[in-house]
Amino acid sequence: MYRSHNNGELRIEQVGKTVKLTGWVQKIRDKGFMIWVDLRDRYGLTQLVFDQERSSAKVMEIAEKIGREFVIQVEGKVIERESKNPKMPTGDIEILVKEIDVLNQSKNPPFTIEDATDGGEELRMKYRYLDLRRNPVKEKLILRHKVTMAVRNYLSQQDFVEIETPYLIKSTPEGARDFVVPSRMNEGQFYALPQSPQTFKQLLMVGGLDKYFQIVKCFRDEDLRADRQPEFTQIDCEMAFVEQEDVLNYFEGLTRHLLKEIKNVEVGEFPRITYDEAMRLYGNDKPDIRFGMQFGELNAVTQHKDFKIFNEAELVVGIAIPGGADYSRKEIDKLINWVKRPQVGAQGMVYAKYNTDGSFKTSVDKFYDEEDFKKWAEKTNAKRGDLICILSGDINKTRAQLSALRMEMAERLNLRHPEEFAPLWVVDFPLLEWDEETKRYHAMHHPFTAPKVGQMAKMATDPGSVKANAYDLVLNGNEIGGGSIRIHNKKIQAQMFEYLGFTEEEAQKQFGFLMNAFEYGAPPHGGIAFGLDRLVAILGGQESIRDFIAFPKNNAGRDVMIDAPAAIDEQQLKDLNLQLRE
Ligand code: ASP
Repeated sequence: MYRSHNNGELRIEQVGKTVKLTGWVQKIRDKGFMIWVDLRDRYGLTQLVFDQERSSAKVMEIAEKIGREFVIQVEGKVIERESKNPKMPTGDIEILVKEIDVLNQSKNPPFTIEDATDGGEELRMKYRYLDLRRNPVKEKLILRHKVTMAVRNYLSQQDFVEIETPYLIKSTPEGARDFVVPSRMNEGQFYALPQSPQTFKQLLMVGGLDKYFQIVKCFRDEDLRADRQPEFTQIDCEMAFVEQEDVLNYFEGLTRHLLKEIKNVEVGEFPRITYDEAMRLYGNDKPDIRFGMQFGELNAVTQHKDFKIFNEAELVVGIAIPGGADYSRKEIDKLINWVKRPQVGAQGMVYAKYNTDGSFKTSVDKFYDEEDFKKWAEKTNAKRGDLICILSGDINKTRAQLSALRMEMAERLNLRHPEEFAPLWVVDFPLLEWDEETKRYHAMHHPFTAPKVGQMAKMATDPGSVKANAYDLVLNGNEIGGGSIRIHNKKIQAQMFEYLGFTEEEAQKQFGFLMNAFEYGAPPHGGIAFGLDRLVAILGGQESIRDFIAFPKNNAGRDVMIDAPAAIDEQQLKDLNLQLRE
């Protein structure tokens, strides 16, 4: 037996007991006659003491030679500590060591393996197995485990069945690029890794499974924006005989259960807003509603005077920044420069200070008067002491810019409390999205999403205005889930592909299997998928998902530890009948 206890469990009650412990050497304090060692394992730290007077010479000799991260086994007696450490769960005791065995040596680690580390991101990723020994990282993985267990328990209790779907599938245009896998046995042919199990879960509904879920890896070969992973995990779900309302209720239940289980937070009924409203009020389809600063549209109260910039704009829109009226000229200039950065892209910003005495001081005093400013304050919900910031221009761009400013100010003003949870359903998404690059409409969610009842007729005349039975679950400004009610009728699905620019042959070739299935009694169905990595990160109070993944890829999609992707050798290429282009 290697150990009688772990390093997190001994307390004052065990004083006098002889115990065996194993673990890694975290810290050594060597005073010559006495040596203290912090011994670490997953469960915690226990202090060992080697004492010239009470430990044998042989034990002292070995203790003198151990180094950081050595794996050791000790046997000794639990004794009460003279100087207790109330911050450590085991801080009342220490182990007076009688026997020591070095189970394995360690090179000096490349960074400090403690809660606070001197290791930079790249170095920690290269030696991720060492990084995992650190509490903050380990705890995030344990949190992830708790979340997946809670999901499995909850859904299973609600009669959902977890079913695996294949990873080697067929390449289909689903939005992002596919990762492909050459087939050795089928020369010149390729599998694709699933971007999501979308069509399979729909086929499970045709197969009568009724309620499906799967905690599943998905793969998307996208240009990596910060904090995206080429492989990520979804909690993927589908249900038969449901309407949008049913899906929302089921998964509101799941989310509420997780918040209670994991964070002990009770949240009421989730508010819902439409996509159009979200864009109008927040300039964003995943608004953070932990704080206000809603947009006020100002066209009606700005376009009656001689101010050309506003008069020519499609949209004039502002927000009130709490307490901003006392910003100095310099601070405001900095803010103007911030919105003019290329990442935000505004041309400029008009501001109006709503002073505490009720007067206004603005950058457009020449063009407008007190009466105007009062209306601006009203529309933006500004109070005395606030700063009204106004952007103008093209509707979509201006909304995105003001949304960026809103988030930035919330960050600066500490309004995004990580321990506060504000879920929100965004519903009635547009079915289609115009793509400037291809000059075509694309399915905003995916081509299997059903339009709202009665809207299919508008597809031919005004496709951009068609709304879908599609919804997102937003938590603290992050999209944590998204789904839709699906088309389950072959004719409508075929028509949808036609609207999306597929020829009949293309549609048949790529999605014939699904449309054929729809001819054999497909039930009405719908579902949702949650992004597990992001969900766990938010529950862990963080924005970055990387630490919640045991072995993540870096921003270039590389695993720097195993050094992947990598070239394959000539023989492998030959077996696959592949040749690299020059
Ligand atoms: N498959 C979809 C996605 O990955 C989710 C869904 O519609 O259920 O976003």
